[in-house]
Amino acid sequence: MAMVATKTAATTKTVRRDNFLPANISLQVILLNRQTMEEKKEDSRKVVIELQNVKRYFKVGDETVKALRGVSFKIYEGEFVTIMGTSGSGKSTLLNQLGCLDTPTSGEYFLDGTPVRKMSKSQRAKLRNRKIGFVFQNYNLLPKTTAVENVELPLMYNKKYNAAQRREAAIKALQAVGLGDRLEHKSNQMSGGQMQRVAIARALVNDPAVVLADEATGNLDTRTSFEMLVLFQELYHQGRTIIFVTHNPDIAKYSSRNINLRDGKIREDVVNDNILSAADALASLPAPQDD
Ligand code: ADP
Ligand code: MG
Repeated sequence: MAMVATKTAATTKTVRRDNFLPANISLQVILLNRQTMEEKKEDSRKVVIELQNVKRYFKVGDETVKALRGVSFKIYEGEFVTIMGTSGSGKSTLLNQLGCLDTPTSGEYFLDGTPVRKMSKSQRAKLRNRKIGFVFQNYNLLPKTTAVENVELPLMYNKKYNAAQRREAAIKALQAVGLGDRLEHKSNQMSGGQMQRVAIARALVNDPAVVLADEATGNLDTRTSFEMLVLFQELYHQGRTIIFVTHNPDIAKYSSRNINLRDGKIREDVVNDNILSAADALASLPAPQDD
């Protein structure tokens, strides 16, 4: 605000000295136009997620645990947002809100424009299936089931797909994550990194508004973690909206924005102007050694 005021004063001064504008009204029009242009620039980005003063309290005996104490933010289409915080800071509680798995005690949550709080459980489930692709730490694949079958799963409830189209979409999604040669492998025949790729393909197959990852590299070794980050950065460059919840602060270097939680509140919310390349990081890792 202070900066705007200074700018206005300076402009006014210049115009008065040059004396080529007939009246202050014209100046006001110019300033007004500039303001609306700036507002438009801001508005042109599509809001995928909006939280308005979201609180989530839990009653435990006589006590109330305040897991979220008023969290507000907007996430725009195409952002790769990491949500960080130490244990107990409220990450899982927030993730459950974002994923429509739980509802706030107060405040409002808009997912792709739809207000979530007053929805019934089944309405929320439908919205979740349509709008969100989940990637979990434990992959959550069906055991002894092929990659294709796992990826087809979210499309089972989608009337737009028949069996052949489901299979085709699943194969495409698996090819996109580099698993075109593992289509018929069962989950128990795959490495952790491969299972997470299947999970990412499954998250993408429904073309969701947002990909929600919960400690998606938590169970993987360093090299495989970077391979996953390479994949997430590729998705980011393709314009996907990604939210990646983690306790690992290093991952923020590879995202476009980082939201830091502490005691159920936002401590920091910063855009990353210097996004590191996960591909470069992967290339500079020491060569894997046999032991
Ligand atoms: P994080 O995922 O960052 O470790 P959580 O969201 O799991 O944090 O927890 C935030 C706080 O809320 C903690 O104090 C936790 O004990 C409390 N909490 C979370 N879920 C519940 C619940 N279902 N019942 C009671 N307390 C909870
Ligand atoms: Mg947690």
